[in-house]
Formats: sequence, structure tokens, C-alpha cells
Amino acid sequence: GRPPGTATAAVDTTCGYCGVGCALTVHTADGAVSEITPDRRGPVNRGHACVKGRFAYGFTTSPDRLTTPLVRRGDRLEPAGWEEALAVVADRLGGIVASSGPDAVAAICSARATNEENYLMQKLMRTVVGTNNVDNCSRICHAPSAAGLSAAFGLSGGTNPADDIEASDCLLIAGANPTEAHPVIGARILQQALSSAKLVVIDPRRTALAKIADVHLAGTPGSNVAVFNGLARIMLERGWIDEQFLAQRADGLDELREQLAWFTPEQVAEISGVTPQALLDAARLYGTAGFPSIIYGLGVTEHAHGTDGVRALVNLAILRGAVGTGRGGGVNPLRGQNNVQGASDMGALPDLLPGYQPVADPQARGRCEQIWGCPLPQRPGLRIPQMFDAALDGRVRALYVFGENIAQTDPDSGHVRAALDACEFVICQEIFLTDTAQAADVVLPGASFLEKDGTFVNFDRRFQRVRPALRPPGLARTDFEIINAVAVALGTDLGCPTPSQALDECARVAPLYAGISHIRLDRDGPLHWPCRSPDEPGEARLHQESFATPNGRAQLAARPWLPPGEQTDARYPFVLITGRRLVHYNAGTMTRRTLNLRLSPRETLDIHPADALALGLRDGDLVEIESRRGTVAAPARITGDVSAGQVFLAFHFPEVAANLLTSAAVDEVTSCPEYKVTAVRLRRC
Ligand code: SF4
Repeated sequence: GRPPGTATAAVDTTCGYCGVGCALTVHTADGAVSEITPDRRGPVNRGHACVKGRFAYGFTTSPDRLTTPLVRRGDRLEPAGWEEALAVVADRLGGIVASSGPDAVAAICSARATNEENYLMQKLMRTVVGTNNVDNCSRICHAPSAAGLSAAFGLSGGTNPADDIEASDCLLIAGANPTEAHPVIGARILQQALSSAKLVVIDPRRTALAKIADVHLAGTPGSNVAVFNGLARIMLERGWIDEQFLAQRADGLDELREQLAWFTPEQVAEISGVTPQALLDAARLYGTAGFPSIIYGLGVTEHAHGTDGVRALVNLAILRGAVGTGRGGGVNPLRGQNNVQGASDMGALPDLLPGYQPVADPQARGRCEQIWGCPLPQRPGLRIPQMFDAALDGRVRALYVFGENIAQTDPDSGHVRAALDACEFVICQEIFLTDTAQAADVVLPGASFLEKDGTFVNFDRRFQRVRPALRPPGLARTDFEIINAVAVALGTDLGCPTPSQALDECARVAPLYAGISHIRLDRDGPLHWPCRSPDEPGEARLHQESFATPNGRAQLAARPWLPPGEQTDARYPFVLITGRRLVHYNAGTMTRRTLNLRLSPRETLDIHPADALALGLRDGDLVEIESRRGTVAAPARITGDVSAGQVFLAFHFPEVAANLLTSAAVDEVTSCPEYKVTAVRLRRC
């Protein structure tokens, strides 16, 4: 039914919402999206997509899109041309570097943006500004996965491909609600569990998967390490381990055995509320399966001891010989954002160059210096939470935020806003005037994933192509073009005029991706890293012959249980858990500007019926939620999906700013925030 003369096109690309990485075809008519269809050739989605990837594209034509640069004049952000905006950026950044040195500047990269854009941004910071103060939002979600998986196996990525879900006869899902946050993977898990696999869910909430699980361990928030260690102890006691694998390919069994002596089922029950029988049942299912797999999410990582949680979970796979062998699906973190794996892969990290090469390693630095043609800073830079502290005490004077709404999504947002206010100069590269952009001195209008050329890396380490179906609106530019223009304004050419050339350069810098290029991806389709030469197919299953640790062996970890950073007390007796809901995505900047808003127009506070009764609440009553840092209000949704004493909020709506409440406690290894445990009190408004 299109009128004659309508210009139509269909472009194959990759979804820009969650880390599943669904392949999509974007159909356009006269320069606007008419439909998005899932691609049957997509290796992860196989012709499926969820309500976000398939339908949430209306934001592209929102009248709120940023279409011109904005420059602060007094207390107002006013439209400006690119020339003026870039001149202000160059003048202010250059001035701060000249007077306070390069480490007075910090940048937060974007897990929403392409690999090539993140590569370019970290290169800009390291080679033009001269600092390692560059980080990305994996800091606040999966940094403990990077640290834990690297320490245990030597590589910072999930070990097995998504297809191993269907090979599994036992799926252990820990701290993840993929039905809502990673729906296509959630559906694959559900189908496998309904057809043939046993399902163990470890989660304080009764998620959709928990409701059909063979065993649901609803440990209290902050008890993960105790529960995982309790499972390991039972597996060792019962002999549900692979002794040959442990002898030939793993270290640390004696220390682990000693540590686990403390984790009796009764002790675990006291910490977590998980009964000894349920713990035994779960250990039996995982420990005796023929091909067990572990899939986990932010409920494992976003804790004050998140890295310990990852290590204790990984122990189970090592004990069982279910990783690096054909006898299990390994351990796979579900990455939250579409390219959080890729942003880290590209070196948007303060201590690691592209391909996870330490900045402190002279050989790795030397390779980059040779290719980039300049000396590099040697000292690791600041992590995101440290950047905020440094802004408040004057060490960081300029902050460059690219595609992240930190004022809404980072924890203890009062602290984040104070840090933004404390900076003398804030640059924000965005597609909407978010809370963060409103605090900036210069706003540079960027492009959405539907307007970009490049690649993303999904949760199972697959490089996939991103292709532009639309043009950025007005004067907006792709982030790739903007970063290059900022470099030119600062007097340097980054030497990567196209995304394809940027990935080619990255392949020379980082041996892990040496065989990956746009040309090859266009010809052969998605490729897993590591892919060390153009002849290699890429490794879907890691560590088959040896682990990437210095001695080639997997490392078991003996970890104690430590209490959460934030505790309840008589004044703040409830535990608030934060997370995501199906139809919205992160800060909601995009999905709230689509028809998805009709499906979920507002946030609710999920509360158990017993607690609602005690507080005199009925469904829909407005509840004031107060933590030690702030107060917000939301209507109650009374549900048995949360346990008594626990409540749940998502962070998609700025009017229910969940992160005003969350705590500044962080994982002691990685500085990942403890989003999953906030002590609150509730009052009927
Ligand atoms: Fe996009 Fe994730 Fe939905 Fe797939 S599951 S369509 S990647 S949001």
C-alpha cells in the first residue's frame, strides 16, 4: 500500500538494545523506519526478536532528538554551529591540559556505541589528551566478570556460545532475569528447560524462570558467595566432580577444600535462608548432569563482593570439568548493554589497552606506541567512581561523557550530579537532552545505532556488523565523525577516517582480533574472538586445550563470605533490589520515546503481600521509598515475585529515580557498585 515513488530500502544490522546481539533487518520508506524484522540468519536469534529490538524504533523521529550542537551561555544551553562547538571544546580542554596536565581530563565511553567509536575515543584520550582516564559502563555492571573470568581462565569473556544452551541437560541461572532483560536468550533457556534440561535458578526474586525451575534458591541479596560455596562443598563431599580434569587442568583445590569446610549447609542456611535440602537438590542437579551450563547476570556482579561472587560461581564449572571441555557449557555472563563487551574489548578501560593488554606492560604499550606513533601514559587511569571523587576534590576538571546518562544510571546519583557540577567543563555526546546532557557545557548531537556503520560484540564474544539504515537528523553526526572532529580541533588526526579502517588498525594493535575486519564480516558473517589471523574461524568455545592463564591451568578460588556493604537496620528495614523490565531499556531515553511506553507507562515498587498488609498498602497506592541518601515515590505493585522484606524498582524512569537511593558501596576489586542491596524504609504517601 505505499504510494508510487516511495523510496524503500532494507538494511541488515544488529540490535542496539541488549547484549544478546539479535540480527535485524531494518525496512525504511522515504528515510524513516517502516518496520524491523528479525533475521533468520542471525546466529543468536534465529529469526526471533523481542519487544525492544523489533518495535522500539520510534525514538529515531522523536521531536526531542538533538539536531544541533549546544553551547552553554550563562545558565542556558543554546544552539551553536559545529565550528563554534568544536572550538569551545578545543579551547577549554586544551586550556585545562595546559594548566593542570592531561590527568585533569577524564572520559566515559559508551557501551551503546560501536567498537570503532570506542576504539577511537580511547585513542583520543591516550594519544591526544595523554591520559588513561578512560572507562566505560562495564565498570558499573560486569567489571567483576572481567576480573573474575580473567583470573580463573585468563580471558575476559564468556566461555561458550549461545548454542550450548540447547546442548545442556542442566542450566544454572544465577542473578539474572533473562526473560525480561535478555528476552531472546530467556526464551531459548525456557524452551530448553521445558523440553529436556533441568533448571536451577539462584535469585532472590521469583522470576519467570524461577517459577518453572526444578530448584529455586532464593538466597537473600548479598548471600551469593555463601550459596555458591555451599554448592561447591556438597559437590566435593559427594564426589560430583571431575577428578581427572582437576588433576590435569586446575590449581587451587586444596585451598578451596579448606575454605569450604566453613560452609556447612546449616551455615549457608543461616546466611542466605536457603534450606539445606534445596542446596543439596541444586548441587545434585548441577553436579551430576552430563552437560551442565552456567549463565549469570548482574545479580552476581553488582555487589560489594561481586568479583568474589564470580570466582565462587566459576569454581562450580571447574570442579565439574564443565569448562574448556566438551562436557559442559562453561560460564557465561549475560552482558547488559548491546556493546558492553565490545567497549571493554576496545580498551575503553583505565588499565587496559585494546585486546586486554595492560597499560603497565611495556611490550603491549610499545606495540601501541609504534602503531599510534606517539608515547603513551604508563600509569593506569581512574575508574568511573574514582572520576567522580576526583571531580569533587578538583583533580579532574573536565569530563567527556559519550552516550551514557550517568546522572540517571550510576549509583548514588546525588553524588554523580555533584561531581558533574564540580567539573569546570563537561562535554556530553548524546542523542537526547538527558539529565547528564543538561549538566554539560557543550552538547554534541550524536547518532543512534540505526544511523551508524561499525560493529558490536555481543555476550558470547561475537563481532557483528552494524549498518546505517537512516541518516542522523539535522546537524547530528555519528559519534565516529564527532570524535575525529574533536581530535582535529585539538590539532591531531587520529588516522582512522572510516570505521572499517579503525577496526583494521585495532586488529594490528590487539592480537586477539587480528583476523577480524569489516570485509571479512561482510563476506563470512559474525566472528567470535579470539580470532588471531584472517585464516582462523574464531573460537566459539574457549580453553579447549589449555586455559589462557600464565601456567595454562584454570584457577579455583577460595573466597570467604563477607556481608554486603549496606546493611538493613531498624530505621531502614527493607532491602531494595534494582533491575530492568521487559519493554524498557536502561535509562529509558530511547524506549520511553516509543510506543513501548504504552505497555509500561510508569515505574512501580514491587512489594510482597505481607509487607503491603503490614504497611496498609493497596495496589497502586503511592509509596515513599527512603534510603540513607535520598527519597523517591512510586505506586505499589503487590506481588509474590519478591520475598517479604525485599522490594524491587527498575531505573528506567527519571521521575522514579531509583539511583537517588542506591549506595556508594563498591566491589573491593573492581569498584563495581552494589546496586543489588540498598537498605530502605517505606511509607504510604
Ligand atoms: Fe534486541 Fe536483546 Fe531484544 Fe534481541 S533480545 S531484540 S538484542 S533487545
